[in-house]
Amino acid sequence: MNDIVEALAELSSLRDREALDFKLVALLRKFVATPLDAIRVVTMAGEAGDQRWLTGACLLAGQTEPTRDRVWVNFNTLPRSSDYPDRQACAMGSEIQYLGSAPYFTLFPTDPESKAPSVLEIQTADRLDTSGVNLVVNVLRIYRNLQGLLDYGEKDSLTELLNRKTFDGAFIAATLHDSQRQKLAVPDRRLAQGGSYWLAVLDIDHFKRVNDTHGHLIGDEVLVLIARLMRASFRFSDQLYRFGGEEFVVLMRCASATDALGALERFRTNVGAREFAQAGRITVSVGYAPLTPDDTPGAAFDRADKAVYYAKGHGRNQVCSYPELVASGELQEAVEESHAVDFF
Ligand code: GH3
Ligand code: MG
Ligand code: MG
Repeated sequence: MNDIVEALAELSSLRDREALDFKLVALLRKFVATPLDAIRVVTMAGEAGDQRWLTGACLLAGQTEPTRDRVWVNFNTLPRSSDYPDRQACAMGSEIQYLGSAPYFTLFPTDPESKAPSVLEIQTADRLDTSGVNLVVNVLRIYRNLQGLLDYGEKDSLTELLNRKTFDGAFIAATLHDSQRQKLAVPDRRLAQGGSYWLAVLDIDHFKRVNDTHGHLIGDEVLVLIARLMRASFRFSDQLYRFGGEEFVVLMRCASATDALGALERFRTNVGAREFAQAGRITVSVGYAPLTPDDTPGAAFDRADKAVYYAKGHGRNQVCSYPELVASGELQEAVEESHAVDFF
């Protein structure tokens, strides 16, 4: 009894989703009486029509440490969610699913209400008994509450995008991950060529007019729709933030400058093509920059912000690249101007 209370106390002290998933699978393997051949947390990621399973934690019999898919895993290499219809039904419903016979699979929905529903899947040689099922159900209730607390701290309550507070940590975690790979001599061609991470600042044009003309509530609705268009325009592994007001940030990983520009142009075009119910047509200005070795969150943001400032001063509704503006000598002027303006 004391052991499990201790393990739950440890679980509830975690403030990191990756660690939470790892602890969850380790805890259940330890305390479910039936020996587990495999236990995993898998999430349905991506847009409707092309969703795939992303593994948050997987612990096989004999393994001491769980494993997971990398943050920047190539989406197309993940298993399609439609290839696992039982998992899919479980993730979206609220029923536990009992499948197969030696091995048995017991599937538990972790949070069917979530935008990215996930499943806890347990594989056993013997059927999981009732006390095992009850233990999993109750631990998942605690897990769900902890996820809710993390959401509350990390997400912007209006748009449900990540909030600014989490940016520095995510920036460092995402980029550090790969520098560790380099130390381990794991080849990554894109990294060797540099500039595989890109940071973009997205700012709605003349948003004040929307508020002034239609009121704050309609303004808020536009912000929610813009966040939805961001989710539809960028890839699932890109990190999407609302930095405050009508300013958004995307941290993405792209193979080339062309890919980065392509994604940002797709977003700009999607916004421009959308007829907003009350507010009519809306446009956005975007500035972006590749991350440099030993970059800092502040410095990277600053470069993208200078490019967006340039876009604002040159007609809005466009995507501007920081390195291209520097190369063409345009940015000198924008840099000097930007000293006079505080964007926040
Ligand atoms: P620009 O094209 O130069 O970016 O002009 P702008 O009007 O979009 O930019 P400005 O910075 O002048 O105004 C931003 C406006 O965003 C002002 C403020 O009323 C509005 N705003 C900030 N936060 C919120 C919010 O949470 N909800 C709503 N509805 N409006 C917000
Ligand atoms: Mg604006
Ligand atoms: Mg702004």
